[in-house]
Amino acid sequence: PHVARLIAAGEVVSRPLDVVRELVDNALDAGATRIELDIEDGGLRVVRVRDNGVGIPAASVALAAVRHATSKLPPDVAAVERVTTLGFRGEALWAAAQAGRLHLVTRPASQVGAAELHAHGEDIRLGRTSAPAGTTVTVLALFEALPARRRTQLPTATEVREITALLGRYVLHHPDIHWRVAVDGEPRLTHAPADHRGAVASVYGPLSANRVLTVDGPGVRGVVSRPELTRARRDRMHFSVNGRPVLAPPELEKAVIEGYAELLPAGVAPLCVLDLTVAPEDHNPNVHPAKQMVALADLGAVAARVREAVAAALAAHPL
Ligand code: ADP
Ligand code: MG
Repeated sequence: PHVARLIAAGEVVSRPLDVVRELVDNALDAGATRIELDIEDGGLRVVRVRDNGVGIPAASVALAAVRHATSKLPPDVAAVERVTTLGFRGEALWAAAQAGRLHLVTRPASQVGAAELHAHGEDIRLGRTSAPAGTTVTVLALFEALPARRRTQLPTATEVREITALLGRYVLHHPDIHWRVAVDGEPRLTHAPADHRGAVASVYGPLSANRVLTVDGPGVRGVVSRPELTRARRDRMHFSVNGRPVLAPPELEKAVIEGYAELLPAGVAPLCVLDLTVAPEDHNPNVHPAKQMVALADLGAVAARVREAVAAALAAHPL
């Protein structure tokens, strides 16, 4: 049972990047307008996410690290089809407490005093402390008890690069909140609330931000670069579906490029940040364990909307 539990947890959380994604998703689900991430030793020593979201009432804190306990689903089975939060499985904090050591401090704004939770394996300890409104979750000593998992981790520099890139994508898709990322105590990425253009400035620098065009079509919002600022790489095409950064299906990348029509030289890809909104029932975030891929019920229709929104943005800004 102990080993089985560790294996199951290791499937939810297989590397520090997974912990980062889960904790940031929780902060977004909590309605935070300020999210701060600290990692040390590529996240193996420390992953800490501090938010100013709704917090967890003291009476519920004991449940936070219990497997399958979630506050995000009403108790009918069909609800999972209509879920609008980023999390809903109730496994992330549980897995973090198995794969490492979990420390959580949380306070809803209306509550006097904060609650504190230490969880490691099946050992859960509760306490009281003081803290600003919101939640700070720290995961320490990840994979300490899973030496095989620890040995197969990517080099620290690679993990740090990918975590920073992931946070860049969160900034691009959630530009209206404060973000701060520190690696081994050094600030790596900071962003103050702005629009999509401001987020492009925070992530790619003012030069890239200078001449992006606003896209504002039905269910498709964001920015695309002017045709002359495009490059022969696709690694700057970013999509989110209902707030979650996703690995875009190639159909969506193609739709953006088609939106430029003959304005774009062949083989060249634009920078784009596009936030797609679809009805919850048209979208299944479950197809990929890390939830980075989405299944869209009507990909063709979404792609057409993307193509038209991009074409309209370019038409509205004659060169
Ligand atoms: P899930 O997100 O799938 O519900 P998690 O294990 O990630 O499961 O979190 C368990 C529960 O703990 C959440 O349902 C939520 O009630 C609470 N929680 C976790 N993180 C936060 C946070 N940053 N702010 C407020 N509540 C949180
Ligand atoms: Mg979660």
